Amino acid sequence: MADFDCDLFVIGGGSGGVRAARMAAQRGARVVLAEAADMGGTCVNVGCIPKKLYSYAAHYAAAFEEAAGFGWDLAAPRLDWPRLKARRAAEITRLNGIYQQLLDKTGVQTVRGWAQLVDGHTVQVRLADGDRRWSARHVLLATGGTPSVPSLPGREHVLTSDSMFDLDPFPRRLAVVGGGYIACEFASIFQGLGSQVTLLYRGEQILRGFDDEVRHFAAAEMAKTGMDLRLQAGVTAIERTPQGLALRLADGGTLEADTVLYATGRVPNVNGLGLEAAGVAQRPDGAIVVDAQYRTSLPSVYALGDVTARLQLTPVALGEAMALVDQLFGKGERQMGYDYIPTAVFTHPNIGTVGYSEEAARKEFGAVRVFRSDFKPLRHTLSGSSERSLVKLVVDQASDRVVGLHMVGPEAGEVVQGFAVAMKAGATKAVFDATIGIHPTLAEEFVTLREAAR
Ligand code: FAD
Ligand code: NDP
Repeated sequence: MADFDCDLFVIGGGSGGVRAARMAAQRGARVVLAEAADMGGTCVNVGCIPKKLYSYAAHYAAAFEEAAGFGWDLAAPRLDWPRLKARRAAEITRLNGIYQQLLDKTGVQTVRGWAQLVDGHTVQVRLADGDRRWSARHVLLATGGTPSVPSLPGREHVLTSDSMFDLDPFPRRLAVVGGGYIACEFASIFQGLGSQVTLLYRGEQILRGFDDEVRHFAAAEMAKTGMDLRLQAGVTAIERTPQGLALRLADGGTLEADTVLYATGRVPNVNGLGLEAAGVAQRPDGAIVVDAQYRTSLPSVYALGDVTARLQLTPVALGEAMALVDQLFGKGERQMGYDYIPTAVFTHPNIGTVGYSEEAARKEFGAVRVFRSDFKPLRHTLSGSSERSLVKLVVDQASDRVVGLHMVGPEAGEVVQGFAVAMKAGATKAVFDATIGIHPTLAEEFVTLREAAR
């Protein structure tokens, strides 16, 4: 061990990198972490956290409207966008500091600069006063991902999610291209904040990979908020005009907008990382190839999180980091399980899901029973809103195990997180039936579904 400058060199101070560095240092390892940008990575700076803060802000718009139904009289609310941006920025700066403190407290040496892999045991970092090299027993690549925009005429006019948090001025008309997590979330957020949003998705229905019924239900609910949601819609070119931007559409039409957001996926952050020269194998999309122990083709080099382009979620990067550190510096008992990982899409209304979609379950298990209910939540009996909610269970007929649980409705992420424990534990429909509900809640619907819909 003493032959190396450190036991673990981590490249990337995001969700996975910071967690791995801290946990390794807590186990006595000598750890160095290099970060080229703000501490905390995508999730803290331009992902989960600022996105959720803006989603909260957007939900107030509906709450103000609904308040009248509950007897409140309010003056017409007005969004102070510069104030929201400033308050978000201050909170993110606070979080950057907390991440730095967590590393300092555990004794991790942090280096601010662009890092490059030289060989299996050497990392070079570009510092303000020149390059410096460290030798390391193990190297962890946790460099995350970055937005990817297809090439098209006028590509220089489009923005990605990274630029949406500090937009100036606030976009009156926003066009969003894509139909995944980011497109749907940002479309909902800006529609709620007051933009007229047009969502253009190339396929038959948004959120490919989610349960079909959930996709259709969520799309219908999003459209109810006033969003113009267009399916099978392609963009061929974007031009600047005196009025703003003009999107030339594949069907021959034109759409005018002030801002165009492309949310067309993310690619692994591997440019300039020195992977080819060092001999680290990559997939054609650039993702670093790892085995079940997160080991790359170089035995002393590991990779996890978004740079491996598997499940691009913060808790997955965190879980992988803890499993790796346990393997390198602990008892080697901790495993990361990839089944029944819950996820939420923070659209308006939210989507929460864990386990199999109905379609995937039919393929995997053959015979399944589906229990579902869509209804007007109690709150909307007075609010005046026409929003409806959907709850759905997919049950493997042979074992009675609940293999899919889906919800579209308020706080779906909060609700589904709780049920995810039961799903991970293998709960059967009989266990759901034996569970007493909490009344009156929306979540109680999951334990009162008695008649199979199919
Ligand atoms: P990152 O967090 O991206 O960290 C990588 C770090 O490495 C970055 O800080 C980068 O600057 C640094 N770096 C890269 N190359 C180098 C180099 N050569 N030298 C030095 N430093 C380098 N996930 C959820 O679970 N829930 C959500 O609600 C959610 N919302 C999201 C919203 C948006 C808009 C986006 C874009 C993502 C969202 N995600 C969400 C996904 C989540 O942010 C990622 O899965 C997570 O951040 C991945 O962590 P990571 O450690 O792999 O990489
Ligand atoms: P996604 O992969 O989720 O979605 C990309 C979307 O862009 C898809 O609808 C895809 O269509 C479409 N698309 C891809 N290429 C093109 C193209 N050339 N032209 C037009 N449309 C195209 O990526 P995101 O960027 O939305 O998000 C990246 C990842 O970040 C997510 O997968 C998720 O893991 C994570 N994330 C998680 C969040 C959460 O947990 N709440 C929130 C935000 C991000 P098609 O389906 O037809 O391929």
